[in-house]
Amino acid sequence: MTIQWFPGHMAKARRQVTEKIKLIDIVFELVDARIPMSSRNPMIDEIISSKPRIVLLNKADKADAAITKQWLEYFNDKDIPAIAIDAQTGTGLKQITTLSKELLKAKFDKMAEKGIKPRAIRALIIGIPNVGKSTLINRLAKKNITKTGDRPGVTTAQQWVKVGKELELLDTPGILWPKFEDQLVGFKLATTGAIKDTILNLQEITVFALNFLKDHYPNRLKERYSIDEIPDDIVDLFDEIGKKRGCVISGGQIDYDKTSELVLREIRTDKLGRLSFEIPENFQEE
Ligand code: GDP
Repeated sequence: MTIQWFPGHMAKARRQVTEKIKLIDIVFELVDARIPMSSRNPMIDEIISSKPRIVLLNKADKADAAITKQWLEYFNDKDIPAIAIDAQTGTGLKQITTLSKELLKAKFDKMAEKGIKPRAIRALIIGIPNVGKSTLINRLAKKNITKTGDRPGVTTAQQWVKVGKELELLDTPGILWPKFEDQLVGFKLATTGAIKDTILNLQEITVFALNFLKDHYPNRLKERYSIDEIPDDIVDLFDEIGKKRGCVISGGQIDYDKTSELVLREIRTDKLGRLSFEIPENFQEE
């Protein structure tokens, strides 16, 4: 799904989310486990200020498990409940109801004291495009109620989707924009496939990705592309991968676009293993 985020669209998205938040008890903020900070909306705290929230680190199946564990500790330290999940297979989803009940116990106990009839917890899934919102709703609902992708301009009445007896979700998620004015954020979103390559320069995204892999996962690079020593200069690394994979144009010149496409495709399809492109260490003061 591609959304062009103009100021008018952002204001509208924010308004829609604010309206939905009034209807619910708790927000499930979906982020990409590989880039938990870059895949968040920059104004999320302000937008959902008054409601309890659980951060769901989705696509944990694609992320580096050791780093995901660090992220869970990071959120824990900030008193933000967080769970690592895989919306596609359903890993971790049971914890969502358990934790929601825990977080809302006081509120529901108070309602019971006032004689209000018990009801299911109402939740809203929020996140940037492609983070897995529809997949998660479908998985929780155990049937296809939301179509993947949105239909601009079509307003439908809010509907609730039952998740067992104790939880219900709004059937349409809250869609918010990423912090794309930050170039590094853009590179991370592009590397993981959250945004289309056409928005940024393909070779620049690949230079970012290769530099990151060189620093954090040198052995994966060596193994995947049969490289003995990773060259210091990123262009030399680009050349070596291009040569190894036959991405050359006539005269033996490296085809950098073709090499970029190959590297990015292989990263996104987990050919270099499970990778995380953000580590909590770099976000301590935020
Ligand atoms: P939305 O735009 O937030 O609703 O995102 P979608 O639900 O359409 O998901 C975007 C892409 O991510 C789809 O190709 C999904 O199959 C994929 N996806 C969603 N959740 C997961 C997950 O937990 N693991 C993996 N590997 N892929 C996922």
